[in-house]
Amino acid sequence: MEKEQTEISRREFFKSGLTAAGALAVVGTGAFWLNHLTAEGRIRHDFLRPPGAIDEDEFMYGCIKCGLCVQICPVQAIKLAKAGEGLAFGTPYIDPREQACDFSCDALQCVETCPTAVLNFEPFKKAGLFAVELAATQAGNDLQQVNPFEVQKVAMKSIVRMGKAKVDHDTCLAHRGKGFSGISRGLNFKGNYRAPESEDASASPLNEKTFDRDPCNLCVTECPIGETAIIQALSRSGRKLIPRVLDGCTGCGVCVMVCPTKEPSIIIEPY
Ligand code: SF4
Ligand code: SF4
Ligand code: SF4
Repeated sequence: MEKEQTEISRREFFKSGLTAAGALAVVGTGAFWLNHLTAEGRIRHDFLRPPGAIDEDEFMYGCIKCGLCVQICPVQAIKLAKAGEGLAFGTPYIDPREQACDFSCDALQCVETCPTAVLNFEPFKKAGLFAVELAATQAGNDLQQVNPFEVQKVAMKSIVRMGKAKVDHDTCLAHRGKGFSGISRGLNFKGNYRAPESEDASASPLNEKTFDRDPCNLCVTECPIGETAIIQALSRSGRKLIPRVLDGCTGCGVCVMVCPTKEPSIIIEPY
């Protein structure tokens, strides 16, 4: 009797053990998928965040959705994600095809204004101060020769890394040996940008500018960063002049906004 009871309790022990293990496995799998789905809902790798955005995971938790970065941007490049974006709802992003960050503000005002530092001004501050010190040294410490604001703004802009531009070789006009003539996005396009030739350094409507280029090179000439970001280079065959994106690209998206093809032939891959 005693032996039988022992056998029964052993069997029950193993049975309950297996049941518990099964339950744990189900809970574990569920937790994994829940975690996975939550993470997927949380992280928007396709969102182009404003300059200085910290790691996406940290950004999602740290941004208080106050909208100050949206308000201060002079070209209204920053939008807040709408409902339907899951946990990203209310967080700031840039759609460069509609309105790129053209650095009109010069001083990365969205970054400076962010109260939570999820747009982190620290690296920009360091880069700006370093550049001013360097310029002063090069000028023999004659501070009259250095315009700190000018030096600082160039240095700060150049270290922005929102993403990197990538040209679609199949649709790009230059890759197809074609030029462009006209208003790049049509008369009804509402975007503004600071054109390189702008005298008062302010942004103006893109639809007020007419281009005539053969081959097309709008993405190269309108880039606010210049030749460290994108250049016109000979294709491998040596027969075409095509845009080539370099490591100095900030991901600002002006090239995406000005590209005249129906779907942009240049996109930004967010970092
Ligand atoms: S200012 Fe900073 S905290 Fe406020 S919405 Fe923009 S990124 Fe988020
Ligand atoms: S603006 Fe667009 S079509 Fe023109 S060269 Fe650049 S990527 Fe190609
Ligand atoms: S190539 Fe120039 S315009 Fe295009 S995203 Fe890079 S820095 Fe901006």
